Amino acid sequence: MLIVQKYGGSSLADAPRLLSAARRVTGLAQQGAQVVVVVSAQGDTTDDLIAAARQVNPRGSAREMDAYLAAGEQLSAGLMAMAIGALGYPAVSLTGWQAGLRTDGIHGNARILGLEGDRIRRELDQGKIVVVAGFQGLGPGEDVTTLGRGGSDTTAVALAAFLKAQVCQIFTDVDGVYDRDPRRYPDATRFGRISYEKMLRLIENGAQVLHDRSVELAREYMIPVEVLSSFTGAPGTIVGP
Ligand code: ADP
Ligand code: ASP
Ligand code: MG
Repeated sequence: MLIVQKYGGSSLADAPRLLSAARRVTGLAQQGAQVVVVVSAQGDTTDDLIAAARQVNPRGSAREMDAYLAAGEQLSAGLMAMAIGALGYPAVSLTGWQAGLRTDGIHGNARILGLEGDRIRRELDQGKIVVVAGFQGLGPGEDVTTLGRGGSDTTAVALAAFLKAQVCQIFTDVDGVYDRDPRRYPDATRFGRISYEKMLRLIENGAQVLHDRSVELAREYMIPVEVLSSFTGAPGTIVGP
């Protein structure tokens, strides 16, 4: 059994949260599953990096912005692999390109085209938990690309699709998908299940809980996606057929 788990920025914001995510990952591995973990940059790192870049060049090229922003997820991946190691489990961190993720050349909003090579499989078959930096890939001409804001969700679903995972779990700071943003509308109602189509409509209307392309990919490859809280451990919302 192979499971992909993705942790968003707020779920990794500091060392206690990152270690708590690592414990959830190792708990799954303990049960015998192969686990691929996709990580976002910690907390507000991406916003901070964008602000820092603008200070040196308000119109930095899209290519260099990608080279710079992709580092946020790489820091998370290395840290997560070390946290898993601290819990006594073998783990390896991979950048998007080490993992083999190829994209088109649209800097800042690249689309994932495929997974090259078998690096992830080889690491899994050696008994390792594989931690992949989200939000990034390699475009034509071997340049680093990023997938657009919120794009780590799409990294996770793409890997679940290409590796034929059982499920893609998206851990975030709310306990599922609601009919409206639960932070702004305390009376919002939570879905136990929601169809890909309905989820895409919610996203069109501004629900940024999932990256739109992640849901399109999940629908294309029929991957069930579970959106759940990294803080409670309660079952979340299944986005499926
Ligand atoms: P992450 O950093 O884990 O990727 P995001 O900020 O991208 O998290 O997505 C989670 C946020 O999405 C929640 O904090 C919530 O405020 C917001 N959100 C907006 N609309 C919805 C919705 N319909 N259902 C659930 N969450 C929503
Ligand atoms: N770190 C990127 C962002 O803030 C990607 C992601 O979190 O999914 O948009
Ligand atoms: Mg997100």
